[in-house]
Amino acid sequence: KTLSRKEVAQLIENMEGKILITSHKNPDGDAIGSSLGWFNFLRKLKSNVKVILKDKIPYFYDFLPNINKISTSHSINEQFDWVIILDVSETERTGFDSIPAKNSLVIDHHITANPDSTFAIVEPKMPSTCELSLEIMKLIGENLIDYEVALPLYMGMVTDTGSFGYNSTTPDTLRNAAFLLERGINPYTVIKNLFERNRVTRIKLLKKVLDTLNFAANGKIAHITVLQKFLKETGAGLEETEGFISYPRSIEGVEVAIFFKEFEDGKWKVSLRSKGNIDVAAVASKFGGGGHVMAAGFEYSGEGIENLKKELFEHLSKLLNQ
Ligand code: 5GP
Ligand code: MN
Ligand code: MN
Repeated sequence: KTLSRKEVAQLIENMEGKILITSHKNPDGDAIGSSLGWFNFLRKLKSNVKVILKDKIPYFYDFLPNINKISTSHSINEQFDWVIILDVSETERTGFDSIPAKNSLVIDHHITANPDSTFAIVEPKMPSTCELSLEIMKLIGENLIDYEVALPLYMGMVTDTGSFGYNSTTPDTLRNAAFLLERGINPYTVIKNLFERNRVTRIKLLKKVLDTLNFAANGKIAHITVLQKFLKETGAGLEETEGFISYPRSIEGVEVAIFFKEFEDGKWKVSLRSKGNIDVAAVASKFGGGGHVMAAGFEYSGEGIENLKKELFEHLSKLLNQ
């Protein structure tokens, strides 16, 4: 059932029992920010709230209040009354085989056909789940939005909008950011912690990944690849590749940037970024994934990554020549 902001606010106010908060696997800033924002907010209202995510949280989020209260686990073995699923609409993308909860509420900003939850609010125009969450929280009680709620939300707004640089950023986004700054946030705290604490292992990995830089479609496609062996050679984790895709995207004349990531189990994750002329969400959904017009992705577990590359470049070349 699809709800309005007001109805979601009422639903959350009336939630009773054990509440689980979760988000998508390989969590990004918006997933972590909205999970922690809601945790810090609901802690003041409810007695039993937990956050469980599938995958490890990258170290650069460690400055957020109560980040160590988020647990990571391959499965959820406890029964809950409610689960709040953030920044994703398909429960499959949480990475859990099943979530034992009587009721579920999705809060998301991706274009999705049908959220598989009891209740949902999905606003694709919203630049981040953090901003949508803030709008709902304001309806529950502005006084509950203190520094420890504001900081993770601000962080997720920054990461999903490219530091308020993408066209998804609206006047309301900046007003909401201002609202959060009034809760005592220093903007540079977020930027410094997220973007200016590179580990040497990460820079060594970046060197190897940039060495794989290649082009297709007469330079309109730039792509990079991370292999498992690069991780072994540098000691970096796959989550430390966050942001690498901005390098191929930054090249003059490039319309679409692609990042191929090899996982431990031999599967692949493909990230797509566009400068606006190509809708990469549509491209990703053709390959079984999804996302936004300018940022999308999908997983690949088929035979030979070279086959996928060929198919993907051909598909994109057609779109680029239209
Ligand atoms: P990223 O490339 O940073 O992992 O993801 C960029 C965007 O694409 C995010 O909004 C993310 O939710 C979406 N996305 C990435 N991978 C997948 C996927 O496998 N399936 C779907 N539906 N969306 C994805
Ligand atoms: Mn996300
Ligand atoms: Mn998001």
